[in-house]
Amino acid sequence: MIALRPAPSNPLPVIVRPVVYELLSSWLRRTAHVYRVTAADVLAHFGIDWPDPLRQADFAQSARIKARLAWGLRTTAERIQRAGHPVSVWRANELVAIDIPFSRCTACEWAWSSSSRVLRPCSRSWYEAWRVKCGFCGRPFHLGGSPSRSSLDAVLVTDRLWRDAVDGSDIFERYLHGRPCGWLPPRLIWSLASIPVRRRRRLQMAFGLIVPEASAPVFGMLQAACATTCRTINPFRRVAMMAAIQRFNQDPLGWLKKFSSAATVAGRTAIARLLSTLPDAIAGSMQGNAPLPAAAPGYWCQAVEMHQVRLKLAVNLGQIRDSCTELNVNAPHNPVESHG
Ligand SMILES: [Zn+2]
Repeated sequence: MIALRPAPSNPLPVIVRPVVYELLSSWLRRTAHVYRVTAADVLAHFGIDWPDPLRQADFAQSARIKARLAWGLRTTAERIQRAGHPVSVWRANELVAIDIPFSRCTACEWAWSSSSRVLRPCSRSWYEAWRVKCGFCGRPFHLGGSPSRSSLDAVLVTDRLWRDAVDGSDIFERYLHGRPCGWLPPRLIWSLASIPVRRRRRLQMAFGLIVPEASAPVFGMLQAACATTCRTINPFRRVAMMAAIQRFNQDPLGWLKKFSSAATVAGRTAIARLLSTLPDAIAGSMQGNAPLPAAAPGYWCQAVEMHQVRLKLAVNLGQIRDSCTELNVNAPHNPVESHG
């Protein structure tokens, strides 16, 4: 647990300037280096007893901890918030790499290669599964390879696909923050895109309709079934998944119609099952049977999510009730004493 002691009289006199998208742990480590102490010493100076490892600092913290960190680092709580992942630790195993980053930026590795390891900043974006580009330099993530000057600017996907992927990645982050992010939660868009469709007599996934670029083997989209999480070390696959979010949200009804008309019998069943888990107003308008809901369209995604949580709770409650009933039926009846 993190313990908060009374704050010292003064914050640190010198704070290293954070890089945009730098992780809080990285910023603390570089600041500590100025004083030739560890990050844990700096936190202790702020009156924060932090459990090891320091990496925990990068996950959603309480407002009080954020305020204290902001005071200590002479910045705002918003800036502290931005230096951490937008997910809490319990969600991190799906979306955030803990030890080894998901993505490497060859350009940044090259740029910092001459400085010592303690001084090299770490970017949030390298650890986050929904990112397609480096937060520091904005370049697309590369697949491994040696950092050499000639490969730094290599463009690996078409401009349009890249733009859509970057926009999709922004939508995903808004989704994590609970801000407007379109029609359906990203995982539902991906499960829709994973339904089997028949196209030119060939069986494939709806992904091939919405992101036709992803049919190249390097994307690894068509061989394996699509996951409902963007956690993948294949940057091409991630680009395709993010582009699908953006493209679907631009014309949800149009895409749903296209998916439905190309879907196999199993695909149509999957679509029907998915629509049955949406709030009536949204399912109705997606099928074209009802006018669009009046609520701000950006929040439909959240409305869907809430509805699905409620459905799941209802199922769980139902199961609990059933097992209670069963227990009652099976329990030996207690003899009731009668006082006549
Ligand atoms: Zn970079």
